[in-house]
Amino acid sequence: MLSIKNLVVNYGMINAVRDVSFEVNKGEIVTLIGANGVGKTTILRTISGLVKAASGEISYEGENITRHTPRNIVASGIAHVPEGRHVFKGISVKENLELGAFLRNDAEGIRSTMERVFEHFPILKERIDQDAATLSGGEQQMLAMGRALMAKPRLILLDEPSMGLAPLFIKEIFSIIELIKSEGTTVLLIEQNAKMALTVADRGYVLETGKIVLSGTGEELLNSDEVQKAYLGG
Ligand code: ATP
Repeated sequence: MLSIKNLVVNYGMINAVRDVSFEVNKGEIVTLIGANGVGKTTILRTISGLVKAASGEISYEGENITRHTPRNIVASGIAHVPEGRHVFKGISVKENLELGAFLRNDAEGIRSTMERVFEHFPILKERIDQDAATLSGGEQQMLAMGRALMAKPRLILLDEPSMGLAPLFIKEIFSIIELIKSEGTTVLLIEQNAKMALTVADRGYVLETGKIVLSGTGEELLNSDEVQKAYLGG
């Protein structure tokens, strides 16, 4: 579904991503794990068109999208939930969700997607008219994910959804990621919480300073000595 070939991304003189290649197949949860600053966020931002690749190719459903605009990329069915959540403060939960559907014009479909989002995140329904600024960190993460789902994406990019959340919320977020997959949406997940990410993932890739150093199924990586030592404290 998504194929990244020899991707290189620079910020001025800084070489953030060095020759990265990987694939995401339809229906999978694929995770990229690695320490802070190895280039995970940059890869997602490049897929979304927010950062331009210096070289390499990103193809999605057989089409080269490397130079497409962020708007076209959203329109082609890719939704991005950025790190740090970024919900719109000063407007309600409901208005935040409606903004996620800005490219849709099927009012009935939008309503039914919103109902689906409320089934996943009942707390958002309770807070529907509340200013998004009043939500807790975990609730804001749910709102950011719910907003992305409002676009009815076929591929969702999740940047560190567990960051800064209490353990109970983390469990809930990961079970919702599995639910999103079970409904047919493909997931590309980047995480510092390697254990949780590899537990839910079909496959994973380990990044070190802008390069992929290891790949395998979630289970293979969970059991690998290198991953145990470097990321699982084992
Ligand atoms: P994090 O978990 O902190 O998001 P990451 O693995 O996602 O880390 P990136 O945020 O992609 O890593 O950063 C990769 C490298 O690029 C780092 O060295 C970082 O300092 C650098 N970098 C990221 N954004 C910029 C920017 N806007 N300008 C310059 N350098 C940047």
